[in-house]
Amino acid sequence: MKVKDTDKKINIITLGCSKNVYDSENIMGQLKHNGYEVMHDSEAPSDIVIINTCGFIHDAKQESVDTILAAIHDKQEGLIEKVFVTGCLSERYKNELPAEIPEVDHYFGTHDMHNLLKEFAVDYKHELIGERQLTTPSHYAYLKISEGCDRSCSFCAIPMIRGKHISRTIESLVLEATKLAAKGVKELILIAQDLTFYGLDIYGKRRLDDLLKALVKVEGIEWVRLHYAYPTGFPEEVIQTIAAEEKICNYLDIPLQHINNDILKSMRRGHDRNKTESLLVSLRNAVSDVAIRTTLIVGYPGETEEKFQELKQWVQQTRFDRLGVFAYSHEENTHAGKLIDDVDEDVKQQRVSEIMDIQSQISFDKNQAKIGKIYKCIFDRKEGSYYIGRTEYDSPEVDNEVRVDATQQHIELGKFAQIKILDAEAFDLFGELVK
Ligand code: SF4
Repeated sequence: MKVKDTDKKINIITLGCSKNVYDSENIMGQLKHNGYEVMHDSEAPSDIVIINTCGFIHDAKQESVDTILAAIHDKQEGLIEKVFVTGCLSERYKNELPAEIPEVDHYFGTHDMHNLLKEFAVDYKHELIGERQLTTPSHYAYLKISEGCDRSCSFCAIPMIRGKHISRTIESLVLEATKLAAKGVKELILIAQDLTFYGLDIYGKRRLDDLLKALVKVEGIEWVRLHYAYPTGFPEEVIQTIAAEEKICNYLDIPLQHINNDILKSMRRGHDRNKTESLLVSLRNAVSDVAIRTTLIVGYPGETEEKFQELKQWVQQTRFDRLGVFAYSHEENTHAGKLIDDVDEDVKQQRVSEIMDIQSQISFDKNQAKIGKIYKCIFDRKEGSYYIGRTEYDSPEVDNEVRVDATQQHIELGKFAQIKILDAEAFDLFGELVK
């Protein structure tokens, strides 16, 4: 039987995506509720380190392994007592890791928080949902509306790591949002593996639209932002709700991965070029100023120069507002893992930079067009002599930022302010407070 020892300082290190951040915040909330002092990604001395790993693609896996080895080194140096590992890498390689890095005190999977807490003599309490210890600035928070994924995209290991799609109930999400708003959260960032699948499992139909209509009624919440939408079966009613609801940011993150029909078919995405383009057209028709963020993969097996040129031209034509591009990572036990990884690594990297060169120019042009205009912004932090904020078209950590000279005016962090844009670069806007 573990003994509760709240004198032990705990440091949680979170790797990977916002869904991992959400999980770490839940672990921290449970431990804090039981009297433990828990830090996040801290350099400060601690007794116990919990590493919440990412196991999605090669580079992320390598970062997770390096972080574990660094913690093991600190343990061998007597700087920390224990190292616990959880999250996607730990889940995906639960059979291999204990043998490969036996110095870790205990490995936990992605659905194993209750066992991790037992190491601290803490019993998981469901009613603490919403009592997360936020690691984000207190005015915005991620809200994970479901876990797992029922899709079978060929390149993706997530379904085998996170399991089947499980939606949370609208009631539990509204309760969590209400508690967050009471703590000062103004911006809710909805996340999932597949946001648009929401409700199909527990309600037998897509209910993202109903969830959005419930969340915008939560007092104190001013912005609701949508991440990780999926194009196939996209609920059109959500487009109308984005257009109609002031509080829902005119912003949509929808990873599309590619546009060539052969590649999309091999990726098992369930949508083709025509469907993709008509979805984007109906979105832009309904929400004229919508900022569309997407993610693409280059160097997928079979991506000939011709197919890559088709993708490049499409990116040029479609002019996404925000875009991320990844080099294909050949992952074992995925459908694509059985294919031949026939695009050389340096060709993959070359294609990544060609797409980002196009996107930087598009982003620069779009930002130049914002000069002279006034935008409602929220301010996340102060950095040097600048206040750093975002418009509704920008999600934290991944999109553009608005910089305001802090030597000339005062802005309260976590508050909204009207900002007139004075200048712009590819990924940054510069502005002044409108009195
Ligand atoms: S939707 Fe596709 S890419 Fe996204 S988590 Fe599910 S399987 Fe992976």
